[in-house]
Amino acid sequence: MSLLSQRVQRIGTENAFKIGPYINEVAATGLKVIRCNLGEPDFPLPAHIRDEVKRQLDADMTHYVDPQGMLPLREAIAAEMGARRGLAITPDRVVVFPGGKPPIGFSQEVYCDPGDEVIYPSPGFPIYESFTNYLGLTPVPLHLDERKGFAFTGDDLAPLITPRTKLIILNFPSNPTGGVASREQLESIASVILAKAPADARIYADEIYENILFDGSRHFSIASLPGMAERTIIASGASKSYSWTGGRIGWAVLPTAAEAAVFKTLNINYFSCIAGYNQLGAKLAIESPESPPVIERMVRAFQERRDIVVNALNSIDGIHCQLPKGAFYVFPNIAGLCDRLDAIGLCARLPADVRAKTSPATLVQMFLLFRYGVATLDRRAFGLIGAEGRHFLRISVATALDDLKDGMERIRTAASDRAGFAAFVREGRRLS
Ligand code: PMP
Repeated sequence: MSLLSQRVQRIGTENAFKIGPYINEVAATGLKVIRCNLGEPDFPLPAHIRDEVKRQLDADMTHYVDPQGMLPLREAIAAEMGARRGLAITPDRVVVFPGGKPPIGFSQEVYCDPGDEVIYPSPGFPIYESFTNYLGLTPVPLHLDERKGFAFTGDDLAPLITPRTKLIILNFPSNPTGGVASREQLESIASVILAKAPADARIYADEIYENILFDGSRHFSIASLPGMAERTIIASGASKSYSWTGGRIGWAVLPTAAEAAVFKTLNINYFSCIAGYNQLGAKLAIESPESPPVIERMVRAFQERRDIVVNALNSIDGIHCQLPKGAFYVFPNIAGLCDRLDAIGLCARLPADVRAKTSPATLVQMFLLFRYGVATLDRRAFGLIGAEGRHFLRISVATALDDLKDGMERIRTAASDRAGFAAFVREGRRLS
């Protein structure tokens, strides 16, 4: 008998957190690290929200509160999410969680039994795949095509749907690609789901980046399409929109109040409730007229950085990068760079046990971090199944512009350092 359960031995992780100690190790050598690995806005919590949190702390809002989420916050969420999507949402269908992450695993727990199939985007937020393995569900990655702007249509989804399909995860705007599906693409996805998916299959629409859209585009939710609200879990939260990752406030709108009650029971079992002062801060964030201009300023900064970073990357031989339409990541294709550095050949010659835990893009990621002080994430960090042969990095633009410019120049220099790369791989210390 082993100490750890079989189940927990199958769980994955989110490498954005995992590489923190590596970054510290590099920084300790005196090399300044440009942190392009972060999935969080680099702006402070807006003052009006901060003041409200302090006010609630002073008002002693520091005790247990409703495990489903405080009613005033659920009312604010229901009104805002509903108005924006053209839906009538009642607060009894809203559940509040410590961040946008817990409803991902909870949805798999609530709707799926071992062997049920979960369709999720790949590359995608790693927790989608991690949890399927943890719970013994069957992961069904939907591989996103760079040529289609990392979005997809019903035709791409249709072959993956079977009678065992229980959950279909969508994420637009998308982490890590910045892809956004058009209304037409969502219509074709919805019509395939209506025609082919089992009646009790649920759609999980992860819309946490709903406010981070570029070039004037507006968010459109699949739940707004006919027949979809009845089967869609709409998830969002405060982390990205209000630059408040530490507040740990996320939420989901469930198709029915009865389903919301099941999530509430999980909340009770796992953590009882979420800090009341933060929940009331989130209520203010959602309702305050001071919030939209703050979001707009942040999005303008992300867009300016996106343009500069994408241009810089596309000027480096061996890298090409699409212009993302939302979120705050760019996702360059580095296949040519892997060739330039002979990463594919060097990777293929690694011992099998090392090779199993790495990839050419991972070697480049580690080289950039340990030799050039640029922290990025590799393709493998966004879903392992089917990641082989796909050479990408994720670069977050949620970092100061001067640092980003410095980072791009470091990548340019690294791209010519074939000998340095070979020596780094030969040294073999940090290959995964
Ligand atoms: N979904 C996606 C697609 C994300 O990128 C993230 C955060 N990186 C989350 C959910 C979780 O957000 P939170 O920090 O609010 O838990």
